[in-house]
Amino acid sequence: MPATEPLLKPEPARPAHVIAVANQKGGVGKTTTAINLAAALAEQGFRVLLIDLDPQGNASTGLGVAPAERQLTTYDLILSDGQPDAIIRPTSVANLWICPANSDLASADIDLVANEKRSFLLHDALRHPDFDARAFDVVLIDCPPSLSLLTVNALVASHAVLVPLQAEFFALEGLSQLLLTVRDVRRSANPDLRIEGVLLTMYDGRNNLAQQVEADARENLGDMVFHTVIPRNVRLSEAPSHALPVTEYDTASKGAEAYRALANEIGARLKR
Ligand code: ADP
Ligand code: MG
Repeated sequence: MPATEPLLKPEPARPAHVIAVANQKGGVGKTTTAINLAAALAEQGFRVLLIDLDPQGNASTGLGVAPAERQLTTYDLILSDGQPDAIIRPTSVANLWICPANSDLASADIDLVANEKRSFLLHDALRHPDFDARAFDVVLIDCPPSLSLLTVNALVASHAVLVPLQAEFFALEGLSQLLLTVRDVRRSANPDLRIEGVLLTMYDGRNNLAQQVEADARENLGDMVFHTVIPRNVRLSEAPSHALPVTEYDTASKGAEAYRALANEIGARLKR
């Protein structure tokens, strides 16, 4: 062995664990989960990128990216070969970066249809060397409220999908529709796609219906359901208007504690 050869080779950087936060229903807590799980993982020292894949741009607004700072967005990342380094922005939270979105993404579904790689554009964009250099541990994708091509792009680009489920009557029916889409993506493009977990959100333990939905979900889905349940907590709904995750807006709130518990569940798997 030549003397100049290092005895210990440096560990190759581990690729980021990519999680799509998806549910075709609006208002179930996708964006709230994406922002606050991202912030709680960042608080634990993980390097986290949040990709806003919703034309409404709520995750971007909630993390304080003003519209004027969205000259370049996720649209440019997936549809016009934008340089990730020019698009990704730091947030006020250490270890947390965001790829912002605005209404440019609203036309993406139409712009994607004619593209023969239409389902793979986000997957391919994440292979850009800029991402390796930033060495993210986790990438969270905040999906739009639909099973559109954008959501399919997220599922193709991800290792796993996290499904927020609002504890209400038709919740499980919507879930089976999403799981069929996951099955299709596994068959066609991403055989290793896993379910990271189903997360009960906006949970009110005094409400019988919520208890029933939780019992049904745990009985039917077993380990797929996270131990952590996110309570209904007004601090979670106030935080975005202060451009902060709840972990910084009201660090001791029930909402902050719940998302930290979720980050512990997911963080423990990441360390394994
Ligand atoms: P989605 O991204 O699925 O459309 P959001 O995360 O935007 O859903 O949540 C919808 C609304 O519910 C928002 O106004 C949000 O602030 C509020 N919300 C979400 N989760 C909670 C919660 N656990 N407690 C109270 N309000 C919540
Ligand atoms: Mg949303």
